Amino acid sequence: MQITFAGTGDGRGVPAVGCQCKLCDRARGEGGKNHRRRVSVIIRNGAETILFDTPASVGEMLNEKRIFEISAIFLSHKHYDHIAGITEFEYWSAKIPVYGNISVLGNFEITDRLYEQCKFHVLHDRESVKVGRIKVTPFDVSHKIPTFGLIFRYEDKRIVHFSDSGNTKLTDYQKLQVKQAQLVIFHTVAWDGGTDHIDIITVIKIAQRYPKTRFVITHIGHNASPHEELVEKLSPYKNITVAYDGMEVRI
Ligand SMILES: [Zn+2]
Ligand SMILES: [Zn+2]
Ligand SMILES: [Zn+2]
Repeated sequence: MQITFAGTGDGRGVPAVGCQCKLCDRARGEGGKNHRRRVSVIIRNGAETILFDTPASVGEMLNEKRIFEISAIFLSHKHYDHIAGITEFEYWSAKIPVYGNISVLGNFEITDRLYEQCKFHVLHDRESVKVGRIKVTPFDVSHKIPTFGLIFRYEDKRIVHFSDSGNTKLTDYQKLQVKQAQLVIFHTVAWDGGTDHIDIITVIKIAQRYPKTRFVITHIGHNASPHEELVEKLSPYKNITVAYDGMEVRI
């Protein structure tokens, strides 16, 4: 399976609209790895393409990556940074299955065009869905509102994506998934003090317990250090990678 980190910014993205902080100014001027769109990932495996979350910039990103076919869309939760781009799919060329919990599917107006183009399915905790040969399993994570992380499985390959999750302690189910995964993704907004999003210190602790698993941090905001500083600070931890827009990982 191949995963593309299509956007790696937090709810505001970097540069954040209306913000003149040093990092936002730099991201505006230089672009590069400090320029972060709001978060989403694309999972590809042979003929299957899965999009996880549809931030406002999802259309731009699909154009840049020249993606013209999507097998399914999954939505993690109803916060707008994760769903505002769903309206792009009013104009998609084929009907797409869209999966999410009842809280997210009930949160936006399903216009006539969206209804034409998308087929909506309600997800339930730990009830797997097959998208071609990829098995996708939603699991509850701790966030302000009902939120699903997703496990993507193909043969013996496993990606565990925690989405917006404040879990400081993993549940037994989550520990088992992390142990069996080649790749685990966490959404972090800060070095420490995370409540609704896990903080980097906690990710380090988890990563040290599972040295054979690769961990990626994403959903990074303008209050975090610049990309190169984050990479430098995390360099002692060989199994943690700081995501940037466009980064691809194959497992
Ligand atoms: Zn978010
Ligand atoms: Zn800023
Ligand atoms: Zn959220």
